Amino acid sequence: MSEHGQNYLRYCSEAVVWQEVPGETTLAFTITGCQVGCKGCHSVDSWPAGSGVELTPSYLQQRLEQYRGLLTCVLFMGGEWQPQALLQLLEFARSAGLKTCLYTGLETIPLAIRQRLDYLKTGPWIAARGGLSSETTNQRFVDLRSGELLNVRFLN
Ligand code: SF4
Repeated sequence: MSEHGQNYLRYCSEAVVWQEVPGETTLAFTITGCQVGCKGCHSVDSWPAGSGVELTPSYLQQRLEQYRGLLTCVLFMGGEWQPQALLQLLEFARSAGLKTCLYTGLETIPLAIRQRLDYLKTGPWIAARGGLSSETTNQRFVDLRSGELLNVRFLN
């Protein structure tokens, strides 16, 4: 919780990426505090809820201004466990004219979050089935605007 009494998401890494959301130049944040507990998770260090630093709207604004004209999308890898904080950032990204994406280990998310997303990846990591680049994956990457399943865009 911040000094102003507001609960913000916290993140442990940030990067501009091109493969996580097909066709988009994306600013991606890894949010700390995931409780799904997938065996073989690649980011166990992000599990502790209080780790990382606050992802405030003003910080996001600062980053979007720095990358103005380059980015087309903002991706949150987690954060659905703090819906109000996530919604605030999704609305902020959209008001800046950017698309939005969420990666979640859950199968479903609340409608209020879905309504503020352009892309959604769902499903836990199951090592035996592989991630989006595997034909046997349990995970789904959907363009929510059209309902189209985009998994094929990730195949090797
Ligand atoms: S949902 Fe993602 S971050 Fe959470 S435990 Fe599973 S692989 Fe790790």
